[in-house]
Amino acid sequence: MKFQLLTIFPDMFPGSLGQSLAGKARENGLWSYETINIRDYAKDKHGSVDEMQYGGGAGMVMRADVLGKAIKKNVSKSAKLIYMSPRGNLLTQKKVYELTKESEISIICGRFEGIDERIIEEYDIEEISVGDYILSGGEVAAITLMDSCIRLIDGVIGNFETHNEESFGKNANYAGLLEYPLYTRPVDWEKRQVPEVLLSGHHENIDKWRLKKAKEVTKSRRQDLWKKYKENS
Ligand code: SAH
Repeated sequence: MKFQLLTIFPDMFPGSLGQSLAGKARENGLWSYETINIRDYAKDKHGSVDEMQYGGGAGMVMRADVLGKAIKKNVSKSAKLIYMSPRGNLLTQKKVYELTKESEISIICGRFEGIDERIIEEYDIEEISVGDYILSGGEVAAITLMDSCIRLIDGVIGNFETHNEESFGKNANYAGLLEYPLYTRPVDWEKRQVPEVLLSGHHENIDKWRLKKAKEVTKSRRQDLWKKYKENS
């Protein structure tokens, strides 16, 4: 996968994606990125990219002419163009699977109050949100989106089963449920024991126990997911 980031803070990349599994995967050529500094397309020598908004109100807006030029000069026609935005489609695991079908993704990282609306109209842009809260810029949101895609690329995570069994995974057993509780060594810690069944080696019972726990966790924490799960099963 190839990512392109349009940003006024190119040094924020690769950030956490330079470490651990994503970092190794980049070294192995499984994904790559480039940054485009929107300031390089400013009209003045100060590199101004923002202006006060028409209609009044606090906060600046990223100019359509400057950002438009950065897009025109750099974003290829074959790339999927995304604007990280709190009013966008929510980034869910389903959306992540959808995005991993793309080979080239260009991401506009907003700053200030956001970008001039005409950019969104002019280009075929999908707005994507990482959640119902406001970040100070789109860079961290873009890294979140990239991370969630990169870990699904073949060869990034050793055991592919991991994807299927984790929360929001595709495994029929746990589909639509949050993850069951996890345990590892030691068996006895601060007088707390690992549940007996997990030590039994009895796979059928273990599966049953995990499913029961996954249901409990989902029901008590996420009524929205629980309702959907009940409808689908
Ligand atoms: N005025 C906007 C918030 C602007 S925050 C509003 O009220 O909706 C500045 C930039 O941060 C945005 O342009 C966007 O690119 C990014 N951003 C903030 N919160 C985000 C979120 N939840 N998801 C994705 N991007 C976000």
